[in-house]
Amino acid sequence: MSEKCYICEKGELLKKKVDVKPYGVSIGKFDAQVCTECNETFFSEQTSDKIDEVAKIKGLWGLEARTKIGQVGNSIDVKISKKIAEFAGLKKGGEVRVYPEGKNRIIIESA
Ligand SMILES: [Zn+2]
Repeated sequence: MSEKCYICEKGELLKKKVDVKPYGVSIGKFDAQVCTECNETFFSEQTSDKIDEVAKIKGLWGLEARTKIGQVGNSIDVKISKKIAEFAGLKKGGEVRVYPEGKNRIIIESA
């Protein structure tokens, strides 16, 4: 008898290898328990620590940042931290494509 999901309390948890992708970059497959109903994924504490360790080594750690929206003329100005810019390969003078994806997300893509 497998365990019930802690989130939906309906599905059962099956052991699977899950591809972990912090910030959309795969860092390998790790043992997890995945709910058959809601697909929620659970990692053991030990596995979570291992994932954090690998993510840190690969520079996929702490890339998220909060920033205030400014204004320059008629345009909105959003500052991107150096860490995120370097990760995404953005450089001063470079070109990017900016477009919305849904109502609360904007994609900035290297051109
Ligand atoms: Zn579930």
